[in-house]
Amino acid sequence: MSSTTPSIDVIVIGGGIAGASIAYQLTKRGQRILVLERHLLGSGSTGRAAGLLGQLRGTEAATRMMMDSLRIVREVEGRTGRQLFVETGSLRLATTPERAADVEKHVAFGKSLGLDIDLIGREELRRIIPHMRADDVLTASHCPTDGHLMPSELHDAFVALARAQGAEVRTRSPVEEIAVRSGRVAGVRCRGELIEAPVVVNATGPWSYLVAATAGATLQTCALGHYYITTAPDPRFRVDPMSPAVRDHDHRIYSRPEVGGILVGTYEAEPRQYEMADMPEDFDMSTMTAERDNMTVALLVEAAAHRFPFLENDVPFQVTHGIMTFTPNASPLCGEIPGAKGFFHCAGFSGHGIVRSPAIGVIMADLILQGRAGYDMEALRADRYFELPGFQTRAEIRAKGRTAYAGYYGGKKDPKKG
Ligand SMILES: Cc1cc2nc3c(=O)[nH]c(=O)nc-3n(C[C@H](O)[C@H](O)[C@H](O)COP(=O)(O)OP(=O)(O)OC[C@H]3O[C@@H](n4cnc5c(N)ncnc54)[C@H](O)[C@@H]3O)c2cc1C
Repeated sequence: MSSTTPSIDVIVIGGGIAGASIAYQLTKRGQRILVLERHLLGSGSTGRAAGLLGQLRGTEAATRMMMDSLRIVREVEGRTGRQLFVETGSLRLATTPERAADVEKHVAFGKSLGLDIDLIGREELRRIIPHMRADDVLTASHCPTDGHLMPSELHDAFVALARAQGAEVRTRSPVEEIAVRSGRVAGVRCRGELIEAPVVVNATGPWSYLVAATAGATLQTCALGHYYITTAPDPRFRVDPMSPAVRDHDHRIYSRPEVGGILVGTYEAEPRQYEMADMPEDFDMSTMTAERDNMTVALLVEAAAHRFPFLENDVPFQVTHGIMTFTPNASPLCGEIPGAKGFFHCAGFSGHGIVRSPAIGVIMADLILQGRAGYDMEALRADRYFELPGFQTRAEIRAKGRTAYAGYYGGKKDPKKG
């Protein structure tokens, strides 16, 4: 059967936040966009995210991207009249001398980029976040312009704006295959129908390596479990909803306020691997549950209670479990891979897909329409592992992604190892 929708410029596969942001940016530039979503919009990782936004990253390019993302969020807030960002500020804690040296370097780097960030001591910590334990903190950084995004609201806003600008969005529309003719993408096969377009974007999050494989491409992404707990508001322990977010790498946890309680998540040392090909066709991440006696949850609760001692008082909480998409170096894969011209990938956000999505939409639109982006693409290129030995088999990719995840927060630094 041939296409019933012949006049499409770009097909975006995946109705998560990446696909929605790309559709927003491309329709803004007059492109005719079709978004195809396997199940329901936001039924992947996007619906599970915590949304923490810390602007200062390891490199100037990554930091600039985060600052640009925040500017785009402000623009979307202006266009939709909805609040999408909560500017609570953020703290990064150090409880060992080695981590303190890291935090000091982090602050110096942030200042050199013009970011409003400073070191603060225990007294100030107790004042701005009284529900947090501070007696073991040697030093901390404070960035008052950080905070958290509201993931579902931002996703809805991108979808609404893209639709208002002409995007067509089809749910329950799984793409089964990428059609490639003479080395160029020709469209996609969706429920047996060939839908033609000169450009196709793979924005399918944890499923991205499967979608890439239908075009014969190897994409270095893997699917890893991630957990956080959210406490219910408890009249005995008032949490200011504008309390700063906290990153405590020594205890592998992060936290932010959440409707009168707190959310605390962990980057555990031994994340669980998922094989997305084993998931049912209508798999919805919001149906994932976690057993309370699961080891990761037990360690998370222990670390959370250490940092936030009020949790020791039987404060009710719920556990959220979802799947993240990691790459071997925790940096996303954006762009084409040799073999299928016009087939672009945009996946592997490694726990930062919500906060990166606004700038990533611009990057993908630039790559598709101009062939280059206004950022240093070396760290983001989708072809950076193309035919590179050690990065080709599923076993190799899974092992490397798992190591990247486990090293993200690192846990307590061993002073002997430095
Ligand atoms: C528990 C948890 C906490 C997190 N916290 C944060 C955080 O604090 N900050 C942050 O920035 N990020 C966070 N993340 C990560 C963030 O959720 C992801 O990086 C982001 O949502 C990725 O968006 P995406 O659009 O790439 O993928 P997804 O949201 O997974 O969207 C991909 C979509 O593609 C669809 N799809 C798959 N295959 C097909 C197909 N063949 N045809 C059509 N459609 C298909 C899926 O159904 C899905 O809807 C968290 C993730 C989890 C799980």
